[in-house]
Amino acid sequence: MPEGSYRFQVGAICCTVLSDGYFSYPTPWFFPNADPDELSRALASRHLPQDAVLSPYTCLLIETGRHVVLVDTGGGEFSRTAGAVIARLETVGVRPKDVDTVVLTHAHPDHIGGAIDSRGRPAFPYARYVLSQPEWDFWTESRSDLGGLRVPEEVKRMIGLAARRCLAPLRFQVDTVEGETEIVPGVCAIPAPGHTPGHLALLISSDAQHLLNMGDAAVHPLHLERPDWENGFDLAAGKAAATRRMLLERAVAGNMHLMAFHFPFPSVGRVAARQEGGWEWTPGW
Ligand SMILES: [Zn+2]
Repeated sequence: MPEGSYRFQVGAICCTVLSDGYFSYPTPWFFPNADPDELSRALASRHLPQDAVLSPYTCLLIETGRHVVLVDTGGGEFSRTAGAVIARLETVGVRPKDVDTVVLTHAHPDHIGGAIDSRGRPAFPYARYVLSQPEWDFWTESRSDLGGLRVPEEVKRMIGLAARRCLAPLRFQVDTVEGETEIVPGVCAIPAPGHTPGHLALLISSDAQHLLNMGDAAVHPLHLERPDWENGFDLAAGKAAATRRMLLERAVAGNMHLMAFHFPFPSVGRVAARQEGGWEWTPGW
């Protein structure tokens, strides 16, 4: 298995998670409403640093036999510690021109930075770029209101600029979807709003096996154990919490594996409801 990738089968569909890198975020950006003492204890009990969350960026390659689909494109040039997804794809034998579909769960820079190359052209020249219609509308409006984010103003500004810079060159290749929509056979987009207005989850299904890619509906396993702890990058915290619950309940009821872009590599696992509330994350396929 090439370094930074992890391959598994969902029925007849071949899935490979690809590490794009990581970014180190100040802890309060990930847990803006958590009680500081409780958060400190939760991090200490997991032997995690207190002041920063080292957050992985993990893309998903889906090979159905007929289609080559990449879900999220990583940070591209937005971060010096990310932007490796094209190199990772090449180690598993996939060139950018082989990718026929790119799904963007949402238009935050860590997910769309790699959608364009260093000259500002689409990085996947023959791909259909799929994102939701509400997501496209929100970011291509002249003033996207980012007031609900609980991160510094300069970070909000950067997020808005990055979205516009990356989306504009994709306009001739974009295919927007609304509602629950099959993107290619076996891969279905599920509206999962809250993190952003048009955030998407994806359900990959084959031969009664299922992988539910949550995107950024949860960005840290602690958000499963403590559903009352919000994420500062969620634009609408209440809606995001309802979406997170909906996806987790669907995964448990349907006996599905889960994937989350920012969870520890390889970012796939299972959840189970805990007696004391919330959900427990168990990594692995
Ligand atoms: Zn993200």
